[in-house]
Amino acid sequence: MSLDGVYDPNNIFAKILRSEAPAAKVFEDDHVVAFMDVFPQSRGHTLVIPKHSQARNLLEVEPEILSAMILGVQRVTKAVRAALKPDGVMVAQFNGASAGQTVYHLHFHIIPRWEGDAVRGHASGAMADMGELAVLAKQIAAMIS
Ligand code: 5GP
Repeated sequence: MSLDGVYDPNNIFAKILRSEAPAAKVFEDDHVVAFMDVFPQSRGHTLVIPKHSQARNLLEVEPEILSAMILGVQRVTKAVRAALKPDGVMVAQFNGASAGQTVYHLHFHIIPRWEGDAVRGHASGAMADMGELAVLAKQIAAMIS
């Protein structure tokens, strides 16, 4: 999919928002939901999505929704840091297939990094164990402030 296109209400993140698909949820407020990525690039890889937008990417999102969303990203990133004590945190966001985007509901990636640990491939590899993701989600949720 290119940068241009039509929002698909049946994309996997829309289904997670409607509770039609499972997710290890970390945080939710009026604006965003955060949950664990099922193909984590590192331990604790978390996604943040807007609840009330049909933006497929950063270029389409309503400014007021983006403003609320980035505050949610910061809040969850702080919780990831407090819970998992990484050496660094990568915050990423892809627009269009050529840039690596695979799900067309706007989202930010929060990917904790540890010195000497390589980041795993994007949206690939083995699916994580849902029980382990649930434990991580709980640890991060406990650090939301
Ligand atoms: P993108 O490639 O669009 O930037 O990121 C999409 C992300 O969603 C990828 O990191 C991929 O691993 C993740 N993902 C794909 N399907 C699912 C799913 O069913 N549940 C969750 N929690 N994450 C998913």
